[in-house]
Amino acid sequence: HAKDRGKNAFQLFNKEMSNHALEQMLLENSLRHAIERKEFELYYQPQFSAQDGAICGAEALIRWRHPTRGLVTPGMFITLAEQTGLIVPLGAWVLREACRQGKAWLDRGYQFGRIAVNLSPRQFSSDDLLATIDNALDQSGLPSAMLELEITEGAIMQNPQEAVVLLQRMRELGVTISVDDFGTGYSSLASLKQYPLDTLKIDRSFVKGIPADADDVAITEAIVAIAHKLHLKVVAEGVESQEQHDFLRAAGCDMVQGYLHSQPLTASEIEQHWYLGGAQAET
Ligand code: C2E
Ligand code: MG
Ligand code: MG
Ligand code: MG
Repeated sequence: HAKDRGKNAFQLFNKEMSNHALEQMLLENSLRHAIERKEFELYYQPQFSAQDGAICGAEALIRWRHPTRGLVTPGMFITLAEQTGLIVPLGAWVLREACRQGKAWLDRGYQFGRIAVNLSPRQFSSDDLLATIDNALDQSGLPSAMLELEITEGAIMQNPQEAVVLLQRMRELGVTISVDDFGTGYSSLASLKQYPLDTLKIDRSFVKGIPADADDVAITEAIVAIAHKLHLKVVAEGVESQEQHDFLRAAGCDMVQGYLHSQPLTASEIEQHWYLGGAQAET
């Protein structure tokens, strides 16, 4: 009976479940409800040209506006969403919302370059990814060239052969593709050439050490050199200091993104950065 089941379940918690497991279970439960209750929001972190400072787009970053915990960052829930498969519906919402917002900006005359959306490895291996991207573009009316998709080396490497085909199909939709956290995975630089890519994002763990750490400097310079030889653009993530910025600019890095330039912003905050009718809005 219900009461007995409840009691047994309670004993199970006491005996066998660590606080961590219980916490995870509660989190999973509230994550499910959060999708239904639409408690998620996208923040946008602008990316700037390293060479001339012009804004060239933004990365959409999910936030959970939790009723009691406040604004929750993805570090707290993306891994669980990935493990439970909830990332698939959640990721589909992110794509729809980013495209909707982009089209709304476009309709109001804002020029914002591109919006980048993160795809998790689980989404990348899901059968309906292409249809989800296509639907988000169709339903919103956002030109596909204004959408960039960020994937990790890990997502590619979990199925290297299929990734070639999938990335080609994505490219055929007209979107661009960037490799996130580049340098932290296991893909060799040589394997890059078989994938249809547009951009490499140098992981912030390397950016952190420049210009003082000679290894981080060497890795950063090598990534920029090979990316350019392969006709890819390079974004440095996690740029926090003027010294890092100056080094990256001198090294020929194309774009920068980080707290030095801007934190992730709400949709209405970032509008102040967009160009309106060809003239730069006051910042
Ligand atoms: P990421 O894609 O590498 O995003 C960059 C992260 O670095 C963001 O953290 C951003 O707020 C943070 N960041 C930006 N500039 C700086 C800086 O100067 N210094 C430091 N220390 N950090 C900086 P956030 O928003 O907490 O997101 C963390 C990760 O969660 C993202 O890493 C991405 O892997 C994942 N994520 C975020 N939104 C989504 C989403 O919509 N879908 C999926 N699948 N994953 C997402
Ligand atoms: Mg990213
Ligand atoms: Mg990254
Ligand atoms: Mg990262």
